[in-house]
Amino acid sequence: MVIGLEVHVQLKTDSKIFCSCPTAFGADANTQICPVCCGYPGVLPVLNRQAVEGLVRAALALGCRINERSVFARKQYFYPDLPKNYQISQADLPLAIHGHLDIEPQPGKKKTVRIQRIHLEEDAGKLLHAVGSRALDYSLVDLNRTGVPLMEIVSEPDIRSAEEASTYLENLRTILRYVGVSDCDMEKGSMRCDANVSIRPVGQEALGTRAEVKNMNSMRSVRDAITHEVARQTALVEGGGRVVQETRLWSQDQGTTQSMRSKEEAHDYRYFPDPDLVPLELSKEYVDTLRQSLPELPEARRVRYESELGLSPYDAAVLTAEKNWRTFLRPRSRGLMGPIARRPPNRSATG
Ligand code: ADP
Ligand code: MG
Ligand code: ZN
Repeated sequence: MVIGLEVHVQLKTDSKIFCSCPTAFGADANTQICPVCCGYPGVLPVLNRQAVEGLVRAALALGCRINERSVFARKQYFYPDLPKNYQISQADLPLAIHGHLDIEPQPGKKKTVRIQRIHLEEDAGKLLHAVGSRALDYSLVDLNRTGVPLMEIVSEPDIRSAEEASTYLENLRTILRYVGVSDCDMEKGSMRCDANVSIRPVGQEALGTRAEVKNMNSMRSVRDAITHEVARQTALVEGGGRVVQETRLWSQDQGTTQSMRSKEEAHDYRYFPDPDLVPLELSKEYVDTLRQSLPELPEARRVRYESELGLSPYDAAVLTAEKNWRTFLRPRSRGLMGPIARRPPNRSATG
């Protein structure tokens, strides 16, 4: 099996990406909107500096190259959750490219998953097809989420098992939480993952046709959906059939994926540079300042705990899984945790 993940992460900002509406989760429907969010004619987007900063810091932590010049593009599609009928995203020139994330799905089995690109885009609104347990014969639109800043992190097709996929997501979440750019809460939708899945005969180099699986909202459902999708494709091919390129929706209740639409190609979206937004140009000094603002990352801390404190690889891994765990542990076990709790010089004061 061959898997590439597209992960959408909500960037922690006070206001939306192109207007000053708040981003707080859980407000009453359509109370955090303005003419920009609603796509009224004549409004102009103004880029949120905090969103750019968050993406650049995350991308640096993932070893990416930051493009000093990036361009916003309109991705056209027609759907009630998108009042402008286009989403502002980035296509040919994303903010960041060529990163990587190391994973160790099993002890001693390290590997590197390459990150193709990270780009900035706006979220769409939310459609409600049911209220509580009552199905509606119409749909309700809540635009509070339109314009919430997202970064899309696209991996190369380097992942080879459901376990590698979930380890990749866990490590990604840990790093992004360390950097402090998102809370990466899959249940609340601040981290969402689409899995591109294909199969090929052992020994074949060319990739098979992929299906894109959407709608997984927990680590467990990502693993289950991939396992199921690989089994479906294998049975299909062994029965003489062919995998078609399409988007499939995972249902955790039914434990199956279902075809949603045949997969559109990039040209169907008619991407073009957004004339309302100038290209974004970042100076080297600005990027360097953000690089220096990064905290010690989990991998570096894990290695340090092992070498400086003589902790076992297991203990070091447990204690570095969440940035703030050392703080929780400090009061009760001052003796053991003292050296860890002491902040090393020139590192971030958080935690
Ligand atoms: P699109 O523009 O249609 O989303 P991309 O080429 O950007 O397509 O790829 C999207 C994701 O699909 C990436 O994460 C990539 O690694 C993955 N991918 C591409 N081809 C395959 C394949 N044959 N099997 C599995 N994953 C793939
Ligand atoms: Mg894509
Ligand atoms: Zn707004």
